Amino acid sequence: MLKMDSHIHSEYSPDSHSKIDDILKTAQRKNIDIIAISDHNTVDGTAEIKAKTKNTDILAIPSIEISSTLGHILGFGCEENIPRDLTPQDTIDRIHDLGGLAIIPHPFCFYRHGLLCKSDYKELKIDAIETKNARFIIGYCNSKAKKLAKTEHIPTLGASDAHYWKFVGDCFSLIECEKDIDSVFKAIRKGKVESHGKGTSNIQLSNYLFKKNILKKFD
Ligand SMILES: [Zn+2]
Ligand SMILES: [Zn+2]
Repeated sequence: MLKMDSHIHSEYSPDSHSKIDDILKTAQRKNIDIIAISDHNTVDGTAEIKAKTKNTDILAIPSIEISSTLGHILGFGCEENIPRDLTPQDTIDRIHDLGGLAIIPHPFCFYRHGLLCKSDYKELKIDAIETKNARFIIGYCNSKAKKLAKTEHIPTLGASDAHYWKFVGDCFSLIECEKDIDSVFKAIRKGKVESHGKGTSNIQLSNYLFKKNILKKFD
């Protein structure tokens, strides 16, 4: 089983300051085999992570977190930008046209643009959903996602959604595959993937948000 964190933000996202180097160091320390920088509406971090993992044991998969009209969608495997503010199904079609997988992050988290708060799973061609997104308060949204995945047999992923490099790997997937993109995709499609991790501690998260606000004032 390989360990994967498919949803990490870097300084290429407007709401993160994490350097790719720091993200990589944390991933190595936490024995992550497969990594994806899924920045908000840009694939700009993809080239950097690809270049920097070239001589390491880590496989980097291109990715993007797109803001559709009704919520966030990961274009996992997409190397090109997909415009924001398209309808969910148009966004998903674009992802599939680029050979990517449409993964729904934090699907029921209404204050973080969870797509399934406003749209029906059955009307969309979704490939997988996150059932363990590390950024939660009480875990209600994750357990709702887990329930849906179980009844509808949807492949489930875990991911840190880290906006700060220290939180990389706080949730993750264990995936039964080889360390190459085709094999990862096949395993996800077949559901040979499990979500794991305890999540980012709310104390650590609020410390980080507090520091970020203080620092902002002195910028
Ligand atoms: Zn999101
Ligand atoms: Zn995110």
